[in-house]
Amino acid sequence: MVKFSDLPKQYLSIKDEIDAATAAVIRDASFIGGRVVGEFEESFAAYHRVGHCVGVANGTDALEIVLESLDLPKGSEVIVPANSFIATSEAVTRSGHKVVFADCTEDTYTLSIEDASRRITPRTRAIIPVHLYGQPCDMDLLLALADSHGLKVIEDCAQAHGAEYKGRRVGTMGIAGTFSFYPGKNLGAYGDAGGIVTNDDALAKKCRMIANHGRIDKYDHVMEARNSRLDGLQAAVLSVKLRHLEDWLARRSSVAARYMQGLQGLKGLRLPVTAPWARHTWHLFVIRTDERDLLRAALDAAGVQTGVHYPTALPKLKAYDYLGQAEEPLFANKADRELLSLPIGEHLDDREVDEVCRAVREFHGARTASAPGAR
Ligand SMILES: *Cc1c(COP(=O)(O)O)cnc(C)c1O
Repeated sequence: MVKFSDLPKQYLSIKDEIDAATAAVIRDASFIGGRVVGEFEESFAAYHRVGHCVGVANGTDALEIVLESLDLPKGSEVIVPANSFIATSEAVTRSGHKVVFADCTEDTYTLSIEDASRRITPRTRAIIPVHLYGQPCDMDLLLALADSHGLKVIEDCAQAHGAEYKGRRVGTMGIAGTFSFYPGKNLGAYGDAGGIVTNDDALAKKCRMIANHGRIDKYDHVMEARNSRLDGLQAAVLSVKLRHLEDWLARRSSVAARYMQGLQGLKGLRLPVTAPWARHTWHLFVIRTDERDLLRAALDAAGVQTGVHYPTALPKLKAYDYLGQAEEPLFANKADRELLSLPIGEHLDDREVDEVCRAVREFHGARTASAPGAR
């Protein structure tokens, strides 16, 4: 069986460090706030060479809190990609604004800046690029577009810890970058957790206040806000795991390279495209074929776990019927039938990667042999 991910295996590889770090939090009862949270925030900010990291309860809250801190006029339009997890668009609506979906590109599946630019109206105030699957979108183009229209850029980095655009870490190019530390992300906690990175002192301060009941001191609340804190146990786990992140990303990268090699030349199978500007961190390895469901079933039968990200493009979800974008001829609206995520992660050894390649090749060989007109 080739597993899609293997968090128990990862835990065993760092068990001593994790056990010691979490035991210390419990022993000191430093469950909320405190030194351990501050230490993680500092090291995550240092990893990005930015002034601030604000730990929050999850990646969706991170987006909402940044949006809220910007004080945009209610009902502002915010452009988000049609191919993402619902959290990106949900945060827009939850903060009282209007979601506008823009298409993704046909090669990298990240936000199409061209399509985004066509959707700008006088009510547009912000744009949320998603560095999808671990690959940064074209930030120079995006920042130029945003600049010329006075739009705020919030980077959704939930899938792209450590990814770089022309040598710049994702999350450091817009007004803020938001991260999810959901367990399955490349840097994951042992529960829900999230973070905001920014170089903007005032924004960091405001986000921290919003995430902690609008207070500046224990009972000094300057506004009503919410509770969305990163807790001590999660911060302890994240500090340990951050020390291993680069090794794990390097392993992801060699798994991806082995797939690229082992799967090349298959007709009708589109391999991931890495943009020339990207340090791709391979949260997901997504291939595309119009026989997606058949391939998925064949891989399943061969003991290879796969995923689909995402089975329904956001505009086509029932939740967004009211926007009427389901009928638009977006590439994202049809690619959702063709995308397939192969297993990737530091848990895989070369033999397993080869096994996946062999299973894909076998499926492909059988299909082309039986196809009408095959020689
Ligand atoms: C996971 C994810 C989020 C949300 O993160 P949570 O921590 O689960 O709230 C947001 N955006 C994208 C693109 C994601 O993949």
